[in-house]
Amino acid sequence: MNPPIRISEPVPPRDDVQALEGYHSPQLDVRVRLNTNESPYPPPAGFVEAWLDELANVPLHRYPDRQARDLRAALAQRLGQPMERVFCANGSNEVLQTLLLAYGGHARRALAFEPTYALHSHIARLTGTPIAEGERRPDFTVDPETATKLVERHTPSIVFTCSPNNPTGTLDPPEAVDALVDAVAATGRGLLVVDEAYGEFASRSAIQQVDDDRPLVVVRTYSKVWSMAAIRLGFCVAPPWVVEELEKVVLPYHLAAPTQIAGRVALRFDTEMKARVDELVRERDRLLDALEGQAGVVPYPSGANFVLFRVQADGQRVWDGLVAHGVLVRNFSRWPRLHDCLRVTVGTRDENDAFLEALSRVLTEVTS
Ligand code: PMP
Repeated sequence: MNPPIRISEPVPPRDDVQALEGYHSPQLDVRVRLNTNESPYPPPAGFVEAWLDELANVPLHRYPDRQARDLRAALAQRLGQPMERVFCANGSNEVLQTLLLAYGGHARRALAFEPTYALHSHIARLTGTPIAEGERRPDFTVDPETATKLVERHTPSIVFTCSPNNPTGTLDPPEAVDALVDAVAATGRGLLVVDEAYGEFASRSAIQQVDDDRPLVVVRTYSKVWSMAAIRLGFCVAPPWVVEELEKVVLPYHLAAPTQIAGRVALRFDTEMKARVDELVRERDRLLDALEGQAGVVPYPSGANFVLFRVQADGQRVWDGLVAHGVLVRNFSRWPRLHDCLRVTVGTRDENDAFLEALSRVLTEVTS
């Protein structure tokens, strides 16, 4: 037998994939981890018990319900929407990917307003969808007039906005959402996707604006409010004709039975979850106040469970200093439009205090 032929170089992937950088959010083993916008609390103990109880009765040798009917019906009821408007996937990132697989592609375009969630343009590129870049205003809101002009110029098949916006915390006013969805509807060729991963922390949502004859999709996740980042569950509310296309594109049986059950059972713990949201919103507002009172720091208003702030110092040095004090936040200091900006996730009261104390010390160290 001939020896097997060996290759000296790795097989190249698609050219556009080769040119991509992966998505990285560095994890370090530190005392206080406030960098990935998760909930600081695990799900209620009663949830885990109820979830495992139901799981014990699942016929594991069978594929899960392909349409995730029970989960979608429960979610739809909670949201006051018909079930046909709900699509579920493994985290809201998979919802975004499915939207792009169905509506993006080489001959089409997506539009996003920077600075925003990096995965919108990253997943667009992964699906071969060219991405046009709009700018947010200096206060990080989307200007409806500029946005409308960009929609007319590019006729994108997907326009992304994110409210509250990651990483800035900015909330889109309902007029901006209306203006954007009207602009997209006027082209007759696109969808407006409002990413509300942090929607429960905010005072308003676009979910009630979803209608069967408007090209509006609102994306949500269980990863933040529902303390279920490890489960991987997200969903969107969209006109039924969008949901039908998404179901066509997504892999069969993509949503495992434990995930479907977790999503449904979690809804029984609404009261506990609402109490956590209230607590996190109080802590966010306390953090914002404290940062406003801290010399050398400019925080931005936030409707989410995190706060973006700019330091009047070298942001990288401040981030390094925080890590040295055992506190990890997200470093945006070298990002375009976000120079010297850091983003802190709202943690427990103790974690937030540890962060504030470390920040105050680091700022003294780097400016003295
Ligand atoms: N959208 C935004 C704006 C996010 O910040 C995140 C998580 N960082 C996601 C979507 C994805 O969340 P998941 O896939 O965990 O639902």
